[in-house]
Amino acid sequence: MVAFVVSAGRAHASISPRARLNRGRGAPSHRPTPRVVPSPPVPRPSTLSPLGVRSPGASLRCDAGRGAARFGKREEYWDPDEQRRVNENKSWKRTDSPQDAWDIDKERDATMYKRESLERLLQLTPSEPKPDKAVVCGKCRAPVSKRSAETQKDRAHLHRLYYADKYVAVGVYERDGTTVTVDDAIDSRASRWWPPRAARRCRCGRCGEVLGWAFEDNPEEKVGPFYALLQSRVATNEGGGGGGGGEN
Ligand SMILES: [Zn+2]
Repeated sequence: MVAFVVSAGRAHASISPRARLNRGRGAPSHRPTPRVVPSPPVPRPSTLSPLGVRSPGASLRCDAGRGAARFGKREEYWDPDEQRRVNENKSWKRTDSPQDAWDIDKERDATMYKRESLERLLQLTPSEPKPDKAVVCGKCRAPVSKRSAETQKDRAHLHRLYYADKYVAVGVYERDGTTVTVDDAIDSRASRWWPPRAARRCRCGRCGEVLGWAFEDNPEEKVGPFYALLQSRVATNEGGGGGGGGEN
């Protein structure tokens, strides 16, 4: 068993580890009092100052028979970095600069701040903004709209509707940002979906493929005029698929 007694005469400027020790007395809950230097100290001349000892006048003991890093009511543990700093402090000599000694509390605080700010950063980091993919004609790959023009009718973007003798799936797109050519004639069957909105077929401006319908406004609703594009006839330039360009 080895006992250290903190030298009462050792006084430094405010930067001394001892002085820093006394700051915020009793405030931080993680502040260890008293602390134990876990590994048995190497015998040294009397100039040795046990900076690992934090409380004024506290004598500390290393009882080899017990778990060395466990002590006190709070049962604190040194992490490997702190252990290393404590060990380095043990070789601090009175003639060394006070700045050469580790301020264990300060280092621990810094580690904690770093961790906390990292966590905060991760929370604040918005989910990766998705690039605005082009929606293209499934036949000729000409761009007709884009993902950001996707909107909703009756709180849904996709609708499965009965047309002629089968069901069709359409996606709702804003007029702005969608470029298709619209027939003059009204499509009476599609116009039954959302009366009183009249529907006209709309086509790819390049190849003429019918891609869906243009719906007129309904003043009774907040949703304005829109396009309902057949999901089987448009494609999104997702990665891989090889549509020509239009992606950024
Ligand atoms: Zn086309």
